[in-house]
Amino acid sequence: MGASLEEEIKKRRTFAIISHPDAGKTTLTEKFLLYGGAINTAGSVKGKANSKYAVSDWMEIEKERGISVTSSVLQFNYDGYCINILDTPGHQDFSEDTYRTLMAADSAVMVIDASKGVEAQTIKLFKVCVMRHIPIFTFINKMDLEARDSFELLDEIENVLGIRTCPINWPIGAGKRFKGVYDRDTKKVSMFQAVSVGGAKSAAETDYDVTDPALKDAVGDELYAQLMDEIELLDGASDEFDQELVDKGELSPVFFGSALTTFGVQTFLEHFLKMTQSPLPRMSDAGLIDPITEPFSGFVFKIQANMNKAHHDRIAFMRISSGKFDATKEVYHVQSGRKLRLSQPQQIMAQDRKVIDEAYAGDVIGVFDPGIFSIGDTLCTPGKKFQYEGIPTFAPEHFCRLVHLDSMKRKQFIKGVTQIAQEGAIQMFQDYTLGMSEIIVGVVGVLQFDVLKYRLENEYGCDIRLEPLPYNYIRWVKDPSTDLNKLSRISDCKKVKDMKDNPLLLFANEWSIRLMLEHNEGLELEEFRKN
Ligand code: GDP
Repeated sequence: MGASLEEEIKKRRTFAIISHPDAGKTTLTEKFLLYGGAINTAGSVKGKANSKYAVSDWMEIEKERGISVTSSVLQFNYDGYCINILDTPGHQDFSEDTYRTLMAADSAVMVIDASKGVEAQTIKLFKVCVMRHIPIFTFINKMDLEARDSFELLDEIENVLGIRTCPINWPIGAGKRFKGVYDRDTKKVSMFQAVSVGGAKSAAETDYDVTDPALKDAVGDELYAQLMDEIELLDGASDEFDQELVDKGELSPVFFGSALTTFGVQTFLEHFLKMTQSPLPRMSDAGLIDPITEPFSGFVFKIQANMNKAHHDRIAFMRISSGKFDATKEVYHVQSGRKLRLSQPQQIMAQDRKVIDEAYAGDVIGVFDPGIFSIGDTLCTPGKKFQYEGIPTFAPEHFCRLVHLDSMKRKQFIKGVTQIAQEGAIQMFQDYTLGMSEIIVGVVGVLQFDVLKYRLENEYGCDIRLEPLPYNYIRWVKDPSTDLNKLSRISDCKKVKDMKDNPLLLFANEWSIRLMLEHNEGLELEEFRKN
């Protein structure tokens, strides 16, 4: 007998790993997968550029630069859990999809480089987690290298990100003097011993009880004294572990380790799995939808276009939020009012994709999009009609004027930009006064400009030029009936409309946003828009 529906859902953990580039997200993910037996060799996740990462060769840009524009979901089993790690594209390919992926996660693991602390991209991603009130777990990585003071790092997380922290373990030294970590709950010290096995770095672990006299010899007098002081300080001053606050995303359990040497990774994974929850009810316009008692439902959070160039294929990524998905049954697409069988449902893994015939709440699957899905759409069991809350439109930070070089193909050009915008790769705006004769595109990460140019040329046969605009901030005007021409201090910014004619303003800096608000009483501006 297989597991019951409830057992299947309860053993699921679905989370995203967020970090600033180079903090160690890929390395940590890979170590998780090694534990789960999902991959056999380290390097399998990272080797995207030269491995047979076949699914993503849909775009030359990926090949040229060895990056992945496609995101994936890594599913593996560990210790009775079924774990879904949502890969959030980072690096140069940072895009709105990175944010959207967080809409499908139940919790987030934040990887921080111990020598750098909280960095820019972490802050941006963190804001999305906070908006969703999901639990956030911190892994302070690279303790085998020189690191900043641990208390200072915690202070920075608390002050910059505005979340309380609760260290679950505590490092003894760092860099060349990194001796291991002290587990505050079991009061045991795991010793770190860097070993080199066939050139690959690894760590052997030996455990000491903190009261064991041998520990002092093992770490040396100075570090031992420091540890005793720090334990006292921690027990007196730091926040206590409180599961309820963790669940609400107000307290982040913190772990120290070294992903590269696999030190502290297993402890982290095991604690994390116990401290996170299985899929929770999700809000819809008909109230909360329970993952176990309600039949199948899910929502689309990402659309990946043209996996196969010849067919203008689109794959919709769906997070299942309740019940069991059965590929042989019809589902109801709420936004179009259509019943359909989802074809080619598949799991999008790191190195391959697998056609599936069932999946459960908590899982993320890719389904073939016959051109009817939009980001945020709900799919459910026929007979049900609720809609999940929409996925917000995140503020682009880079803008270009889009100049079409061949006036003969104007229709094709507009169609191309509109379709690419619908897929969510870019946002499309028009000049407030000139309308569609001046098209402006906004993106979260600049790579999307290259993607746009490449796709317009290759898929729609349109030559274009992108002229950068000197703006980095966008604000929606809360009252859509506002006449932007009547605002004061308008010369500092650019007035645009989105494709639904909502007025927006583009600014060069935060200072001009403040000035605009000061000079226009009653004007309200919004940073992102709930769809
Ligand atoms: P990502 O950009 O966040 O995915 O970071 P990667 O996982 O690709 O790591 C960036 C670099 O840091 C790589 O060269 C890793 O080998 C290295 N790295 C990751 N974790 C550690 C660690 O714990 N210790 C050391 N010394 N290097 C690490």
